[in-house]
Amino acid sequence: MPECLFCSIVAGDIPAERVLDSDRTVAFRDMNPQAPVHVLVIPRVHLADLAAVAAADDGLLDEMATQAHRIAVQEGLAEGGYRVVFNTGGDAGQTVFHAHAHVLGGRALTWPPG
Ligand code: 5GP
Ligand code: ZN
Repeated sequence: MPECLFCSIVAGDIPAERVLDSDRTVAFRDMNPQAPVHVLVIPRVHLADLAAVAAADDGLLDEMATQAHRIAVQEGLAEGGYRVVFNTGGDAGQTVFHAHAHVLGGRALTWPPG
């Protein structure tokens, strides 16, 4: 199986600033933050994208969303607001094919996104 960057972060083989882990997820700060707070929530198991997480249909997507919210609270975003994004596939600009939810906040976020 080819090397997966985010599997290496889960394993601790590549360093990342971990934020809040759960039984089935890991969260860490994005290395190229697009907002004052930019955290990625990923499953511990390798699933390529949101489609694969949804297809598993076993509560993992719930856990990812719950963790995204908990991180927003922990990072002080709950009052001001925050955004949770799954870039999925080429048109959305997905670059890492291990599913991840971006949690963004700490500034006013424009809509629609580019
Ligand atoms: P995508 O474009 O696939 O939705 O998002 C991938 C995200 O992963 C990007 O925001 C990128 O900055 C982040 N990223 C890529 N490689 C690394 C890494 O090695 N460490 C961390 N912390 N973030 C990474
Ligand atoms: Zn992976």
